[in-house]
Amino acid sequence: MSEADALRALMEADRWIDRVRSQKTHLPEITELTALEAKLRGLLKDLRDSEGALAPVQANLDTVAKESQRLRTRAKDLDDALSSSTASARELSAIQSELFHVRTLLAEREDRELELLVALEPAEARVESVKQLAQPGVRRRAELLETIAQLQSTLDDELVSLQRDRDERAVALSNSLRTRYDAALARVGTSGAAQVVEGRCDGCRLALSPLDYDRYRAQPPDTFMDCAECGRLLLP
Ligand SMILES: [Zn+2]
Repeated sequence: MSEADALRALMEADRWIDRVRSQKTHLPEITELTALEAKLRGLLKDLRDSEGALAPVQANLDTVAKESQRLRTRAKDLDDALSSSTASARELSAIQSELFHVRTLLAEREDRELELLVALEPAEARVESVKQLAQPGVRRRAELLETIAQLQSTLDDELVSLQRDRDERAVALSNSLRTRYDAALARVGTSGAAQVVEGRCDGCRLALSPLDYDRYRAQPPDTFMDCAECGRLLLP
């Protein structure tokens, strides 16, 4: 195998590895997941807002319900006192007067309780509807995460075998050529060599200057000049 063939084989292996790596981070599932997560974040904000609107109504209702309960207990105690009392007429009159007052307050509290219950319903319905809207998205997100993990693990396995193949190809190069290739690869990525297509380096896609192009065409076999732009070794 000529040095040029060995170099080409290594370049192709590295370009393939680069494609698989890029595939790993550009899966359509990742694009879908990103959009879905943005949507879910929006719904989460809606949920917090509607829960925020619900909380004070619920807290009010709890306070009023507790107050009603206290008044009901007091009214019952007063009722019991009236029916069993051996109290004087004056004491009985005081109990009746308090009972009337307690019942008035209780009626007010119960009206307020009903109002709050009525207000609570739409606020609860909003929270529930946001949760239902989010449910299919949350399920899809879990599916996507699993699919992405599986696909990436498959691609990782492929990369391991591609890397092994690549290392075998690298051994076929002379030490000096491999050093130049690896230096260019480390500097610009993807591959350390490139082809010239229609006067352009297909690594950086820039045109060679007329002078460089003449030099390139006059290269003796198995010598490789660097691309003036990206530094990749130019294949004949
Ligand atoms: Zn180039």
